[in-house]
Amino acid sequence: MKVLSVASEVYPLIKTGGLADVAGALPIALETLGIETRTLLPGYPKVLAALEGAETVLEFSDLLGEEARLLFVRHAGLDLLVLQCPALFERDGGPYLGLDGRDYPDNWKRFGALCLAGARIAQGALASWRPDLVHVHDWQAALVPVFMRYALEPEIPSLITIHNIAFQGHFGPQTVSALGLPAHAFAEALEYYGGTSFLKGGLVTAHALSTVSPSYAEEILTGEFGMGLEGVIASRADALFGIVNGIDTDVWDPEADGAIARGYSAATLKKRAANREKLCQEFSLEDHGQPIFCVISRLTWQKGMDVLAECVDELVADGGSLVILGSGDAELEQALQAAVTRHPGRVAMRIGYNEPLSHLMQAGSDAIIIPSRFEPCGLTQLYGLRYGCVPVVSRTGGLADTIIDANEAGLAAHAATGIQFGSVSRQGLRQALRRAIRLFHDTKTWHQIQKQGMKTDVSWASSARRYAELYNRLLEKG
Ligand code: ADP
Repeated sequence: MKVLSVASEVYPLIKTGGLADVAGALPIALETLGIETRTLLPGYPKVLAALEGAETVLEFSDLLGEEARLLFVRHAGLDLLVLQCPALFERDGGPYLGLDGRDYPDNWKRFGALCLAGARIAQGALASWRPDLVHVHDWQAALVPVFMRYALEPEIPSLITIHNIAFQGHFGPQTVSALGLPAHAFAEALEYYGGTSFLKGGLVTAHALSTVSPSYAEEILTGEFGMGLEGVIASRADALFGIVNGIDTDVWDPEADGAIARGYSAATLKKRAANREKLCQEFSLEDHGQPIFCVISRLTWQKGMDVLAECVDELVADGGSLVILGSGDAELEQALQAAVTRHPGRVAMRIGYNEPLSHLMQAGSDAIIIPSRFEPCGLTQLYGLRYGCVPVVSRTGGLADTIIDANEAGLAAHAATGIQFGSVSRQGLRQALRRAIRLFHDTKTWHQIQKQGMKTDVSWASSARRYAELYNRLLEKG
């Protein structure tokens, strides 16, 4: 089976969040099941700089008015189709935002062009490689099935995966004609409160919808989590699936991780001490055997970082330490920075994005705090499981699906892998942190939780099988 995957970011080339991890890892896991994926992504400067030996396989003289070409290259185990279009993608800022921190005003055109290129490939524009199915990710790729329905009509099925329904790609009403789509596409698929919603278009036109955990698939049917698209999702409920993400267990392998001080396994947990020591040095943290909590996250309201900031003083008073890695909202950065200033040697923070440091934090901390208000899947709790860094998570979305709470029953059954709490509030998080600290001081129980987490299968193997089943189902229906 040949699958065209379309995504706006793909690890290891370009990443701002979990979408990139999935787009980079799923094709590799599917390969072992006999599914050949080619991944279409934009040619941002960072992507072009990393490519070696790319060949031009298609030229577009007029892709939404721009000249562009498609490069094919094999990179990091992935077959990539890179859309090189200097006018749209070769800029100094990030994938979505300019250097001023604002969305590029022509994002509709940038990702519209990506989608149009995807739909052309689906239609057979590449003589040497014709996909059987198209799998698109998030709003940036959501117009592929729209172009397939309203402009090009290739007879192959499409699947759209929602990684976070909070991001929908909203633009003005005139966008539809600027994209060369017929007016009835606006009324039938794209119209959202008078404007154009890329994500809604994809949700209406794709043959199937999926999201990245079964719980999130249920949550987005409700007004609380659907972010205004719950009605659209409900109308497609029969075609909606929830498949939890895996992680790349080669990149995230505590036994063979080059970014940490000392490798270890569930059988050699004592060796984690060397990582703890390095972590304390790195963050100038005092070490007197206290539980060290970490946070590796975008610093946003979604991630509950305001609630975390409110709980830091109590965490320290209860005997814990905290190390934070992340960047995001200026106000939240300031609130957390203020906590660092109040608790030198006990609370430390690194603003920015730092992949190697995130590995050391998982290997050297005792627990990772993830107090998200909503979390489609979440990856950091999966890394935590693999590294014996016990996840303390809110009971939502993928966090609810992947962590088993250390309540009495969970502990008695030797099934518990972390700590879950219900309400994302100061009270809720505080109680969860207290429970974590109590459990930490019961060394035998804590090791049991760590080991159970490390035994959990967080690889892509079973999730890839579920995607393969879904692809097969779509092809049979075809
Ligand atoms: P989201 O995609 O909503 O940000 P996920 O948990 O699904 O959240 O994925 C976040 C990914 O980004 C994880 O791989 C996490 O380790 C990584 N990450 C987030 N912030 C940082 C950071 N500051 N430095 C390094 N890695 C980070």
